[in-house]
Amino acid sequence: MAAPRHSHGATHARRAPLSTFGSRTDVGCVREHNEDSLLVAPPLFVVADGMGGHAAGEVASEIAVDVIARYAPQHPDGELLARAVDEANWAIIRAAQEGKGRAGMGTTCTAAMMEGERLVIAQVGDSRAYLLHHGKLQQLTRDHSLMADMIESGQLTEEEARVHPRRSVITRALGSDPNMHADIYELNVETGDRLLLCSDGLSGMLEDYEIEQVLQHTRDPQRCASMLVNQAIGAGGHDNVTVVVADVTGFAEARRKKVARKTKVFVGFVLALLVAILAGTAFACQKYLDTVAYLIAEDGKVAVYKGVPDQLFGMSFSELERVSGVSVDDLQPGVANRLQEGIRVDSVAAADALIQEYENDIERRANQGALPGDETTQEDANGAGSADNAAGAAGSADAGNASNASASEGAAGEGEPNTSSSSAERRQA
Ligand code: CA
Repeated sequence: MAAPRHSHGATHARRAPLSTFGSRTDVGCVREHNEDSLLVAPPLFVVADGMGGHAAGEVASEIAVDVIARYAPQHPDGELLARAVDEANWAIIRAAQEGKGRAGMGTTCTAAMMEGERLVIAQVGDSRAYLLHHGKLQQLTRDHSLMADMIESGQLTEEEARVHPRRSVITRALGSDPNMHADIYELNVETGDRLLLCSDGLSGMLEDYEIEQVLQHTRDPQRCASMLVNQAIGAGGHDNVTVVVADVTGFAEARRKKVARKTKVFVGFVLALLVAILAGTAFACQKYLDTVAYLIAEDGKVAVYKGVPDQLFGMSFSELERVSGVSVDDLQPGVANRLQEGIRVDSVAAADALIQEYENDIERRANQGALPGDETTQEDANGAGSADNAAGAAGSADAGNASNASASEGAAGEGEPNTSSSSAERRQA
């Protein structure tokens, strides 16, 4: 077992998983010293009520929790827990022999280990373990005290024992008899049950039904422990009072781990799915960029690029395919303007076809002596409303790009040769 922290006059927790336990100890209203000690180191819980006067009880109870913390098993095991209590007994006897504390110092010991729905207790003296089960308080341990013996033999009632002058006489304790052994209790508890360990500073001051009410109605274990101590003090606080409250969470912790594990797997799956979707999208984008093309004016020539002319975060998504021999200045003004931005087409083949049409158009106009970019012919073109074969081909290539503007531009641009030629004809006439 890892080095635990025991507590004397304070509450310590070695591990704090969930707030499933709470503890408090108090000197009370009468005593000068708090000779009780407690240990909260789940699954181990210990209450020890020291005796011996002049603070020697404090030494005995501290040795008890220290040694039990060191020797207790990892998991609930009654025999092994009782053996840890034996070790504590011998340690206190040795300490007294070595002059630590006082000869005759001793302590009670109620040590409990609880894991899942398993509870084991090793018990010596009159500190107690109670269980709140289905709202009912049950005393789990039998006191090693004169009062308990007298009640059992019918000499006393519980009420008489409560005020009996010899009520604090105990018949078994750690620190005197090397052959002393703890009583062992092993039982199954239920999730929702509540374990209470306490010194007689609580059970001697409060009736069982009062303890039961606090355990029933105070949900938070730490608050519950505090309230019990407060009530004992309120009732007079004649003795040191120490309380440990631990809720039975059953296999909630195991279930929580299982859920956490499942959540981890699910998150992993979702992440993998996201990565797959992103990779798929990236692949589809790349495929698209590899297919589409556009024409653009570059150093006065019409260039063909694979991809799209846009940029995103400074990244470009295009690659130069070729620079054609077509001069932008030789083209119709509308087409030339659009080439500054780029004319998108479905494929490099469509771009090549469009360039072919530009070349055909330029050649035809050169043969007819028409000048490109003539404002008059442009206006005439709008009025003409007809296109030759070249315009039809270019228009269809452009329309394939799903860009109506592009298609109409292509058609309008290509419509011009007709009007140019008619204007040329007029000039000739
Ligand atoms: Ca006491």
